Amino acid sequence: MPAHSLFLSRLKPEQRRELENRLFARQNEVCFICDDAIDLELQRKTLEIDHIIPIAVEGKDDENNFALVHGDFIALRRKRMKSQRGRAKVRISDTC
Ligand SMILES: [Zn+2]
Repeated sequence: MPAHSLFLSRLKPEQRRELENRLFARQNEVCFICDDAIDLELQRKTLEIDHIIPIAVEGKDDENNFALVHGDFIALRRKRMKSQRGRAKVRISDTC
């Protein structure tokens, strides 16, 4: 969960959307954390704006220090690990 951002909490929904669009373009349309493509239409509701340099270590609460990330990143990664385990299991039984 991103640290509290005064900047973000003051944005109106349409301003937040515009900010997301700008970050999306600046990041070449990929997530800042996992480097996977972001689908702005499908994933808009779950996206989060995170600080590149955390406020805790004196990162600025400013657009230049924001990055767009998959909000469900951790859930997504768990799901992917699970499906990889599933595939591994199939492979083992195939060779048996
Ligand atoms: Zn991601």
